[in-house]
Amino acid sequence: MFLVDRLRGMQDVLPPESDFYSKIELLMRSCAEFYGFSLIRTPVLEFTELFNRSAGDSSDIVQKEMYTFNDKSGRSVTLRPEFTAGVLRAIVNGLSGSVVYPLKIMYFGPCYRYERPQTGRYREFYQFGVEIFGAPSVLADLELICLANDIFNKLELKNVNLEINAIGCASCRQNYLDAVKNFFASIKDDLCETCKLRLSTNPLRIFDCKNLECKKLFDNAPHTVDFICNNCLSEFENLKRFLEINKIRYIVNTRIVRGLDYYTKFVFEFVVNFDGSDLTICGGGRYDNLSASLGGPDLPATGFGIGFERIVKLLQKTNNSIKINKKNKVYIVYMCENAKFVAVDIVSKLRSLGIQCDFDVVGRSVKSQMKYANKIGYDFVAVIGENELKKNNINLKNMSSGTEISFNLNNFHSDVYNYFKKNCDNSGLDISNS
Ligand code: ATP
Ligand code: MG
Repeated sequence: MFLVDRLRGMQDVLPPESDFYSKIELLMRSCAEFYGFSLIRTPVLEFTELFNRSAGDSSDIVQKEMYTFNDKSGRSVTLRPEFTAGVLRAIVNGLSGSVVYPLKIMYFGPCYRYERPQTGRYREFYQFGVEIFGAPSVLADLELICLANDIFNKLELKNVNLEINAIGCASCRQNYLDAVKNFFASIKDDLCETCKLRLSTNPLRIFDCKNLECKKLFDNAPHTVDFICNNCLSEFENLKRFLEINKIRYIVNTRIVRGLDYYTKFVFEFVVNFDGSDLTICGGGRYDNLSASLGGPDLPATGFGIGFERIVKLLQKTNNSIKINKKNKVYIVYMCENAKFVAVDIVSKLRSLGIQCDFDVVGRSVKSQMKYANKIGYDFVAVIGENELKKNNINLKNMSSGTEISFNLNNFHSDVYNYFKKNCDNSGLDISNS
C-alpha cells in the first residue's frame, strides 16, 4: 500500500478514462465557441470576502461548505466554491473603455465544497459554465438555455428536464420574500432546527432544506409567480414563447430559488433522474445586481454552471461513446541500430507536417514495439529494418484493414502526408457522437 491516501471526496482520473473526460470538455467548449463564447481563466484562490458577499452569508456554501484558511500573511482566502463571483471580479478588474458588450465568457475548472461525499457530490468537482455580461434582455437567458440544451443533445443525454422559474426583480422580489417569511413564521414549530435559524437569517434558504419533513411543508408555501411585477411576468411569458419557438420543452417549477443569494428575475435548472433520484446537472439564472452589490458598475448578467462529473457519470452509465475524428496516428518500428537514426528523422519530419506519430524510446525488441503499437491503438505502423534501408522502400500498414502501401524512403513523410489528405478522414478536432 502506498503511504499517502487521497483526500475524501476528491478523485484521480487516469487514462483511458481521462480521455473520455477530455472529449466531453472539448465538446462543451466547442459548442460554446460556436455560440460566440471565449474562455476565461481565473485563480482557484480568492479572498474569502468575495464569496461571503456574493453567495451570501446565509447560503449553505458560505455557512458550511467553503475551504477557507489564512495564508502566510494572515489573510483569509478560499478555494473557489463556484466560478461566477471570480469571473465577475476578473471582468470588472479588467474592464477597459474598449470592452464590447455583450461579453460572452466561458470557463472550465475545479471548484471546492466541503460537502458529504455521495453520488454526484464531491469535494473537488469541475464546472463548465458560461456568463453573458451587459445584456439585460431575456434573449440572453434564452441563448444560455439553448446552448445548454444543445450540449445535452450533442451528448445524447436522455430524459433531461428543463425547469424554469421567475423569481422577481429588485422592485418586486421583496413582496415574495415577505410572503415566504410570514408563511414559514406561521408554521415555525414544524421546521427543523436549521430552518428555524434560516427563518431569521434568510427564509428563502429554507427551500434548500433536504429534510423530508420540511420538504412536505413546501406544498402550501407561496409561489414566486404570484408576487412578481407585471414587467417580470411579461418577460417570463416571453422567455416561454422563445423556448417554444426553439422547440425546447420546459416546466415551470416555482420552487426553484437556487442555492446562491445573487439571482434575480429568471432561474433555471436541467434535471435528470439518476438511480431513482433527481440530480441537477446544470443550474443558472440572471444576476443583474451582483456587480453593483460588490462595488462594481451596474452590469446586468446571466449565466449557468454545469456539474462536469455528473455528466461524465451519466454518460458512463449509458455507455455513450463520444467519437472525435482524431488524426491518424503512426508508429515507427525500427529493427536495427541504423534504422534507429532513420526513424528519428522520419518521426521529426512527420511531426513537422502535423502527423501524430511516435516511436520506441525504451529500447524494446521489434516484437515488443509491435505489441505496444497495437495496445495503444496506432492506426498505422511502419517497420524499418536492414531490408527497407537496402531497398530504400518502406511499407505503411493500416492496422485495422491489414493492407500495406509501399513508399519511397526519401519522400516517406510527404507521400504519407498526401496519402492521408487524399484517402483518410483526418479532419482533426471536428467532434460528433453519431
Ligand atoms: P445542489 O443542489 O445539487 O447542491 P447547487 O445548487 O449547490 O447544487 P450550483 O452551485 O448551482 O449547485 O452548481 C452548479 C452545478 O454544479 C450543479 O447543478 C451540479 O451539477 C454541480 N455541483 C454542485 N455541487 C457539486 C458537488 N459537490 N459535486 C459535484 N457537482 C456539484
Ligand atoms: Mg449544493
